[in-house]
Amino acid sequence: MADRYLHLTGTAPGRFLTRRLGLPQPAPLRRWTLETPHLDGPLLHLTAGASAVTGVAEALRTSGLTVTERADRPAAIVLDATGVATAAGLGDVHAALHPVVRSLAPGGRIVVLGTVPSPDDHHQAAAQQALEGFVRSLGKEIGRGSTVQLVRIPVARIPGGASAHAAGSTLRFLLSPRSAYVSGQVIELTSAAPDSGSGPTPITDPAAPLTGRTALVTGAARGIGAAVASVLARDGARVIALDVPGAREELERTADRLGATALPLDITAPDAAHRIAAAAPGGLGVLVHNAGITRDRRLANMPADRWASVIEVNLDSVLRTTDELLKTGTITRGGRIVATASIAGIAGNTGQTNYAASKAGIIGLVRSLGPRAAADHGVTVNAVAPGFIETKMTAAVPLFIREAGRRMNSLSQGGLPVDVAEAVAWFAQPDSTAVNGQVLRVCGQSLLGA
Ligand code: NAD
Repeated sequence: MADRYLHLTGTAPGRFLTRRLGLPQPAPLRRWTLETPHLDGPLLHLTAGASAVTGVAEALRTSGLTVTERADRPAAIVLDATGVATAAGLGDVHAALHPVVRSLAPGGRIVVLGTVPSPDDHHQAAAQQALEGFVRSLGKEIGRGSTVQLVRIPVARIPGGASAHAAGSTLRFLLSPRSAYVSGQVIELTSAAPDSGSGPTPITDPAAPLTGRTALVTGAARGIGAAVASVLARDGARVIALDVPGAREELERTADRLGATALPLDITAPDAAHRIAAAAPGGLGVLVHNAGITRDRRLANMPADRWASVIEVNLDSVLRTTDELLKTGTITRGGRIVATASIAGIAGNTGQTNYAASKAGIIGLVRSLGPRAAADHGVTVNAVAPGFIETKMTAAVPLFIREAGRRMNSLSQGGLPVDVAEAVAWFAQPDSTAVNGQVLRVCGQSLLGA
């Protein structure tokens, strides 16, 4: 269902009218294309006080942008606030960004680098936690399609001095058009290096970083799953696209288009993990749990079968297949598991006690399994939590609620399936080793569950 309002505000009369009426002004978002893979302009690198990490400039260069300490119209600003450890030090954050925030180009990016708040130093913890409130507020006021995030680097826990090296893949994603619909988020990197003990796995072909890896995507016939399959194929992965046998035709069309293998299979089948393993004899480098259903009713009207089917598809089958595929070693060392939560699992939603429970369950799974899967199998486990994404699922939402869902976020528009897919691809990168146990909301900084 096309967003006619976004189209209207893209015209001069539409902009005039909606401004006069005080209505939201969504800016068209510029997403990744082969011709325009980077933001259009330099990256302004600032520091608040003294940095507590090394290697920030090197990590920033992986963005492909020109890094500078002075720019009239930067496409991105990175503020290194890792050394801010007192309330007074927060003044350096204001002093660094206040003079330049207006100069950020439309569709620009601000990334604040912080550290994990210390359990032993409440002054440092207060100052670093303050950055979260700062970033979330700036995300709400910046406008013009720009985004603001906080990336925490685990300073205290890295032996031999803290380095921003492990933040490379995260900065590459956040400082690019791939993260167009991600704003107001906090990403906490880990110091663990599950792949080899020696840090992130280097990428041999930057244009196809997933070359040599097999990726399986569930629910891939259409919607977000088809977009995930497409982006992972773009990044060089061999893709296996799984969907229910009832969607076989659509699945085969999607798979053919991408040069992927179609696997018609109900993910709730008792032998699902076994059949996935059989379809990937060389093992899986990436497993994306995307299949999901809704069966909405208020709890008082919800029969047990509607409750059970949602928990079964969205959560239980994810737990079962993950356990089995890890246990059998089908997911290879250095592997990536990405599950799909939802902002409904964070904020809750009327009529969705079953769905929100299943999606909150995914968050619990990711946070608990991430560190253990890294230690035991060298595998990371993360989740995307989409907000309002334009798909068949949301086209079925009644008009008024749909319109509210689209506008009630900092970017005043719905996201596209590719926005979620780009976030999945970031988790899947070989050098995303330090990204583990994270839940990234792809929601334009939705007011719900923000
Ligand atoms: P969609 O309904 O368009 O696609 C879901 C796909 O999953 C379908 O192709 C369906 O056939 C498949 N599927 C369902 N049950 C299955 C099963 N048992 N085995 C295998 N495949 C199965 O939905 P979408 O909007 O693309 O959503 C994809 C994921 O994102 C879901 O997990 C959904 O809960 C989540 N999500 C979507 C939104 C949104 O705004 N669209 C928001 C938050 C979360």
